[in-house]
Amino acid sequence: MGREIRRVPVTFDWPINAIWEGFLSPDHLDGDKCPDCENGYSPQAKNLHDLWYGHIPFDPTSTGSEPWRPDTPAIWARAERNIATAPDYYGSGETAIAREARRLADHFNNGWLHHLAQDDVDALVEAGRLMDFTHTWTRETGWQKKDPAVTPTAAQVNEWSLAGFGHDSINAMIAVNARCEREGVNPTCQTCSGHASIEAYPGQRAEAEAWESTDPPKGDGWQLWETVTEGSPISPVFATADELAAWMSDPVRGDQWVPQAAAAKFIADGWAPSFVGSPQTGLVSGVEWTGHHADDEPTA
Ligand SMILES: [Zn+2]
Repeated sequence: MGREIRRVPVTFDWPINAIWEGFLSPDHLDGDKCPDCENGYSPQAKNLHDLWYGHIPFDPTSTGSEPWRPDTPAIWARAERNIATAPDYYGSGETAIAREARRLADHFNNGWLHHLAQDDVDALVEAGRLMDFTHTWTRETGWQKKDPAVTPTAAQVNEWSLAGFGHDSINAMIAVNARCEREGVNPTCQTCSGHASIEAYPGQRAEAEAWESTDPPKGDGWQLWETVTEGSPISPVFATADELAAWMSDPVRGDQWVPQAAAAKFIADGWAPSFVGSPQTGLVSGVEWTGHHADDEPTA
């Protein structure tokens, strides 16, 4: 919903609309960008990654795969579907289908991801991917491994990759890493050990990982916060829930205005911590506190 109620000391005076400092990790914990990579890959793995997506020229025969042709049945069928769904765009008839089939064949020939070798398929199966082939799925039992185990052929997987969702970025990573291993090259950038960033000073990465956010101090006051950013207060601190509800339901709130009853309910629903203490009630459960009438509130 983007807003929440926080209980803070009545004297809490963090600026309105400013993200609470405890929610922001300090700048000095940021690493520096790795000068030698963009995503943690070694130069060789980066090259394979680019081949996978066709960012650099790719030759289907390099993986032992057959290039797609306009008259490959899967390509022709897909071209027919495209023509049928958008005749205004593609035109119609055999010539239009042939033109679209040529476009599709060229498109699917330009990346490794549509031309896996059997070694690539085996690596993906071993990593638990390609479950469309290796598993069955039903509502009752979910995914179940086929018995005996099935390993699809490269040709089957490559045809599958033309339709539907195909390979995701995890498959790309698995195929790249397995290929690097087979080729005897390191898949990981040596400068940054695969982090894609380097330490700004010795120990920076461990410090950044150990950093934890700190909540604002707790108290008896009531305040509205937004949660669209890391979190900042958007109302003054009020001594009672009723005063906060009145503030939220003041017409000057404009498009942030909520009716009084809705504001009271939001505050009651939004403030249900597991336990909360006050001088008057002692330690009570959040549910009891929510039912606790604002008139009974301790005054600051
Ligand atoms: Zn690097």
